[in-house]
Parts: sequence; C-alpha cells; structure tokens
Amino acid sequence: MDFEVTILGSNAAIPTLSRGTTSQYVHCKQRHILIDCGEGTQMQLRKFHIKYQRINIILISHLHGDHVFGLPGLISTMQLMGRTQGLKVYGPIGIKKLLRANLDAGGGYFLFKIDIVELENDGAGLIFEDKCIEIHHFPLKHRIPTHGYRIQEKPATRKLVREAFNKTGVSVAYIKKLLQGEDITDNLGVHVTAASVTLPAPPTRAYAFCSDTAYSEAIIPYIQGANLLYHESTFLDKEAERAAETYHSTAKQAAAIALKAQVKLLILGHFSSRYKSLRLFQEEAEELFPHVSIPEDGMLYVISN
Ligand SMILES: [Zn+2]
Repeated sequence: MDFEVTILGSNAAIPTLSRGTTSQYVHCKQRHILIDCGEGTQMQLRKFHIKYQRINIILISHLHGDHVFGLPGLISTMQLMGRTQGLKVYGPIGIKKLLRANLDAGGGYFLFKIDIVELENDGAGLIFEDKCIEIHHFPLKHRIPTHGYRIQEKPATRKLVREAFNKTGVSVAYIKKLLQGEDITDNLGVHVTAASVTLPAPPTRAYAFCSDTAYSEAIIPYIQGANLLYHESTFLDKEAERAAETYHSTAKQAAAIALKAQVKLLILGHFSSRYKSLRLFQEEAEELFPHVSIPEDGMLYVISN
C-alpha cells in the first residue's frame, strides 16, 4: 500500500525492553517521513527493517528527551553510512541549537545538507508540500511548545473511462477538462458531461499525530476526519489528576477527542511504564469510541479509505 504508519516506539519517557520511546515511520506515496526520534530509534528502524537512508523528512513534536534524543545518533549514523541526500528536519524553536551542539561537538562535518526548520510556538499551517502530499503542524497543549502534525494526501484527479469516452467521438484534447470535472461541447456541438466519461477521484486520506498533550478540544479542527489518529494516552482515567498536572491525556480523553473529530481509527500510545497490562486502556477508550488500537512496537497500520 502507499500510505502506512509503523509504530517504532509506544512507551512514555522510560523505555522498556519491549516498548521504545516515541517514534513513528510514515510511508506516504514514496515519501519517507520519521515523526519523533526518542533514544533508540535507530535500533528500532533496524529491528523493523526500515531503510533509514530513505527518510528525508523528520518531524519533531517537542524537545523532551523521549522525543528527540535519538536524533543526533541517527543523523551521525546516516553520515557514517555515506549519505549524500539532503535531510529536512522540522521542530520547535530550539531544535537548531540542540542538534548543532550535539553534531558540532564531534567535528560537525557533514557530507549531506541538513535543513532545520524551526516552527513558531503556537503556530499552525502548511509546512511542506509537493505534488502528492501536504504536511501541516498545529499546537498541542504540553509543558513546553509542542507540535502535532497532519500528513495529508493531495486530491487525485478523476479517472477516465476510456470505453465511454471513445464512444463520444470527441477529440482527446478535451480529456484534460473532463478529468477536471468540467462538461464540454466540441466544435461540432457534441455535448459530453464529465460524469458520463469519468469516475470521481477517491477521497483523500490523512494521518494525524498528537503527542504529548493534555486534553484539548482546540486541536479538533486540525485532526478532523483523519483516517488514522495517534493520540497519546499516558494514563488511565483514574489518574486524570496526574494527567492534568503533567499535561498528558488519559485513554478516555483520547477517545473523546477521536469521537469529536470523527476519525476512523484511534491508536493510543505513550503509555506510562507503571502499567503492566494495557487491556484497560482499550476497554476505557472503547466505552466512548469503538475503533481503538493498542500498538506493539513494529506494528504497521495501512491507511485505506
Ligand atoms: Zn513524551
């Protein structure tokens, strides 16, 4: 498939033998994107057979160690493996300083260009686009400036039904207009509607990433209707007070956001290592929202319509 998310790390700040700190790999229409890069991410990439030299966009949510301390190591390995292709890194203000301090300490000579883009605190909007995808950022509600991301396909064009088109006898020069949804009349007066010779484009797909954040309905417009939503759930609802104090969410709160934003599937994550079993996360979230998944590290989610 051409739109997939692999969970590389699903634990909160403290990694365990079975769950790493936050990181995800998104493959969308031949674009290779890494979201967050907690310590150990390069080992997870190896373990799950992801070719990390393909990654050319890295999105960092915030500068807490469990989301970014793996990045200097990953970039150093990219260099050691002879990378020449450029790398774009997006993250909060301060990420330039963090990376430069780490990389410059070791000599700082790189064979490839690293373009670091610092995003405005509390800003929202488009940060990257090409002919196939768009990436938007939006503010989350955490102790320090934190960004959520939405990776969105661009609309495809309508599909030509060749047999139906051939029967009309109009020139192929009209195909472009018909694919854009326009009806046409040729110079002999033959009228052809777009609906009669083309099929509508499939709806666009979107993935939204929200970690780390307290419960915040302000994020809903940015994640509305996403096919897949990752929303952190560090705690269960009986720890709601602790969640509020530390600007994290509970499974119930993540489900409430998924429900209001009308997403198709909710992935929970960023689990506190105090919980030995995650069954209660699933049960608690499913009381509000029926489509919930508890990931294991290495799990692949295919995003389909
Ligand atoms: Zn975290």
